[in-house]
Amino acid sequence: MSTGLPHFRHHPDPVASGSVRESAETCVCCNRSTGWIYTATFYTAREVSGRFCPWCIADGSAAERFEGEFTDAYGFEGLSGETVEEVTRRTPGFQAWQDPYWLVHCNDAAAFIGEVGYAELATHPEALDQLRLDLRMGGWHDASRLENFLTHLGQEANAMLFRCTVCDTHLAYADAS
Ligand SMILES: [Zn+2]
Ligand SMILES: [Zn+2]
Repeated sequence: MSTGLPHFRHHPDPVASGSVRESAETCVCCNRSTGWIYTATFYTAREVSGRFCPWCIADGSAAERFEGEFTDAYGFEGLSGETVEEVTRRTPGFQAWQDPYWLVHCNDAAAFIGEVGYAELATHPEALDQLRLDLRMGGWHDASRLENFLTHLGQEANAMLFRCTVCDTHLAYADAS
């Protein structure tokens, strides 16, 4: 990818994930038209009458100026304050049916890859196995119903796919309407 976008350690390809799109829109923070605009979540009590460019996300100016966060810190209890700040205030979030949250592995927030269906998830067997186990622990006791749910991911539900920044293991959670 040669878009010249800033590098986001925890969201390496926000164009592929759909969180950043090519657009002539002007950034509400720096008032520049950079050719790219952020389209996903931003949580703030302030009124924001527009969208941000990726550069104002990367340098923290959007989060600072509009006193908000791109992602909820849910699940980040064990992480360093620096990591939590990087993910919540300087990393593009993503759109999901339910409130999006970040997965954690090897004591770091994982890198968000994107929303995937069964076929793509199955190319990362470790992520599929981990998701199956999580769902079973979460109360899916009927094995055939669970397999049916997993193989239909990409239709009424999706898998949110991440990759560990340390060991490169893929992991996922299921997001449904
Ligand atoms: Zn900007
Ligand atoms: Zn790991």
